[in-house]
Amino acid sequence: MKHEVAKGRGATLQIEGRFESVARERIDDGWGTADEELPPFKTTVTVERAKSVIQRQDASNPLFSQSLNAYRGCEHGCIYCFARSSHGYLNLSLGLDFETKLFAKPDAAKLLRAELAKPSYRCAPIALGTNTDPYQPIEREWKITRQVIEVLAECKHPLSIVTKSALVERDLDLLAQLAQDNLVQVYISVTTLDAELAHKLEPRASSPRRRLQAMRVLNEAGVPCGVLVAPVISFLIDAELENVLQAAHEHGARSAGYSLLRLPYELKELFEDWLATHYPLKAAHVMNRLREMRGGSDAGLGGYSRGNDQFSELLAQRFQIACGRLGLNLDDMPLDTGSFRPPSRAGQMALF
Ligand code: SF4
Repeated sequence: MKHEVAKGRGATLQIEGRFESVARERIDDGWGTADEELPPFKTTVTVERAKSVIQRQDASNPLFSQSLNAYRGCEHGCIYCFARSSHGYLNLSLGLDFETKLFAKPDAAKLLRAELAKPSYRCAPIALGTNTDPYQPIEREWKITRQVIEVLAECKHPLSIVTKSALVERDLDLLAQLAQDNLVQVYISVTTLDAELAHKLEPRASSPRRRLQAMRVLNEAGVPCGVLVAPVISFLIDAELENVLQAAHEHGARSAGYSLLRLPYELKELFEDWLATHYPLKAAHVMNRLREMRGGSDAGLGGYSRGNDQFSELLAQRFQIACGRLGLNLDDMPLDTGSFRPPSRAGQMALF
């Protein structure tokens, strides 16, 4: 269902995901209201009672073998977010529902404490923010990410954070303490330096300038904070790759990564509509280039690969050359897993 561009929101469509068991359709019921403007979308937060919070996955990078997501849905509303599809499991749309109907796990820190206390637990870094942003705006009030980091700091447990929010600065005290023991790595994701484009692309994330400021604050406090240029979107922002890396370097980043845009399943429809709405003259070029980079068809748009066409290879070369020139990614040191100590019994008892 197409709707007007909602102020401060990303999606221009409200569509069902493949996991939804119901479908909705806007119909004319004879009252002449079908074309009336819908009421504004307000953010709601529903409490989710989870049974466990650590997710495990096969990951080439050990930083991401375990993850914890305190929230479902993300108010940042990035149009390209691949986590959108998962909102279908809740029978909610991957369009504006993903950005406005949020779920929070207030028990996350308690559950984490219980999982870390199990004799069978084996320490490996826990990544915060693999699916939804741990510092999205509702964290200001719910503070679940902070509670989780408090438990990890108490246990000297390594963690990594990926965020598009300057709110990460709030937890500088804990992060600096963890950094002293080589227990934390932060990545701030910067897609573009163009504030106007970022506002359309990632409407409720911090502005690029604010993200870079946060990067500087963290690095100056001794918290290693690199940059993720994610996702790179050809024809729209790929020309900025070197400039983003340069800006990150100037704000203290010593590590960097990038990823290509992925558009699995319904996300393609959502992204295409956003392009047609905001950048109609570039839309066909962007989509065609994307297909070329993903094997020439729509079927490959959701792939994880970095692509093997000439554009992808050129992008990889540009990234390597820029990182080499700026001295990025020279000191990759694994986080410490040897200092972990299970949570105290006193903290455990507080669970019951
Ligand atoms: S900040 Fe991350 S999780 Fe949130 S919408 Fe953007 S890409 Fe998705």
